[in-house]
Amino acid sequence: MRKKIIAGNWKMNPDFAQGIELIEKIKTTAIPLIEGDGVQILIFPPYIYLNEFAGKLSTTKIGLGSQNVASTKNGAYTGEISASMLKSMQIKYCLIGHSERREYFNEDEKLLLQKIKLLLDENIIPIYCCGERLTDRQNNEHFAIVKDQISKIFLELTREEAKKIIIAYEPVWAIGTGVVATPQQAQEMHAFIRNEIRIIFDEEVAEGTSILYGGSVKASNSAELFSCNDIDGALVGGASLLPDDFCGIIKNSI
Ligand code: PEP
Repeated sequence: MRKKIIAGNWKMNPDFAQGIELIEKIKTTAIPLIEGDGVQILIFPPYIYLNEFAGKLSTTKIGLGSQNVASTKNGAYTGEISASMLKSMQIKYCLIGHSERREYFNEDEKLLLQKIKLLLDENIIPIYCCGERLTDRQNNEHFAIVKDQISKIFLELTREEAKKIIIAYEPVWAIGTGVVATPQQAQEMHAFIRNEIRIIFDEEVAEGTSILYGGSVKASNSAELFSCNDIDGALVGGASLLPDDFCGIIKNSI
């Protein structure tokens, strides 16, 4: 059975003291909720907090991930952090292809594939984000756009590599806007993505792939989303900075 995953992407927020306070609040409220094996919680704080947070979470079931990774192995790339460096800090997950990185840092599938391969070489699980813009949906091109984003990556992976990837469907028009996809819209796209994986590989890989929904998820709208067959959890931005809301989302996923 696919595991439910609730991941919090803190983006470039908050400052360190507030971050410590937030992680402590999430720990206190979330740990009793996840005693069973039902749901995996992942936190993606800014890079420079990872080491401190790894210590704070080492005795818990809460996992830590990185928001980004370099597309090269090592060397003279000022400001970059490599997959092997993440591994050496015991980081197990990394976001790849978030729409903000696609848009503001011009990341395309060729570059994203390089990052995914480097992560897999270090046994770090990529969470691969995909999703259409509002104009794509208005032009009824949303399925074609997402198919392209999926196939450009998955056609280049072996079956064993593909089995390690988590997918996050994040329609760009829903990210940080307060406009959430309806459960019908999200379910329809998740089923479409799962079917693309089925076509490229097989039933076992498709059924084993966790597909998270992202885009204005809150405690108040998450239960309905989680009741959909092909929605295996959420990638949460804004609400992951609000401990009560984030823990409410976790509660709704159990
Ligand atoms: C995100 O940035 O991945 C995201 C889904 O943000 P929000 O929940 O704020 O829409």
